[in-house]
Amino acid sequence: MSPRRIGVMGGTFDPIHHGHLVAASEVQARFGLDEVLFVPTGQPWQKSGRTVTRAEDRYLMTVIATASNPVFSVSRVDIDRGGETYTVDTLRDLHQEFPGDELYFITGADALEQILTWHNADELFTYAHFIGVTRPGYRLNDHHLPSGKVSLVEVTAMAISSTACRERVENNEPIWYLVPDGVVRYVDKRRLYRKPE
Ligand code: ATP
Ligand code: MG
Repeated sequence: MSPRRIGVMGGTFDPIHHGHLVAASEVQARFGLDEVLFVPTGQPWQKSGRTVTRAEDRYLMTVIATASNPVFSVSRVDIDRGGETYTVDTLRDLHQEFPGDELYFITGADALEQILTWHNADELFTYAHFIGVTRPGYRLNDHHLPSGKVSLVEVTAMAISSTACRERVENNEPIWYLVPDGVVRYVDKRRLYRKPE
């Protein structure tokens, strides 16, 4: 059997939004991926000075958002490992879970540069091919990326971020059509991102 091509889309997904979904779908089609695994990060103490929503809520929103796509699924590896997520651990674990398959790590081009600087890039490249998707307002800077191991893909500009979605909820502004309908409902049901009363 030929190896399967599996996309790995890591993120905090606090909340997951249509920017994530469009990027994953675009890369899936262009690279002929058999599946894309969304991998919500473990529970960091905080990210950029704010408390991150608990992992189970972020996991459930990711499941709700991806449920209708037959080639999208969600992995709990980072959540079940716990603590801060390091890309090298994610890829090592998934490489063990899917031996013989090809992993394609999908990430924003901005995050890609950081990942490859912080980690032992040689070990990362033994596990996966890296695909950096460009985000609105980001200028590609690929002069120090090794050739053959990293691809850069321009995805239709979608100026949506989780930060903007959280701020909208906090200000009582709608997030309809920025995130899938089920995620709007879930955020409301669990009263996520509201100002503390
Ligand atoms: P935050 O605003 O909290 O930083 P975020 O919107 O950047 O959240 P993350 O969960 O941090 O979302 O992102 C997960 C991955 O998706 C990252 O690799 C990020 O670069 C990428 N990404 C986020 N938003 C978009 C978008 N609008 N288009 C394409 N890729 C995106
Ligand atoms: Mg981000």
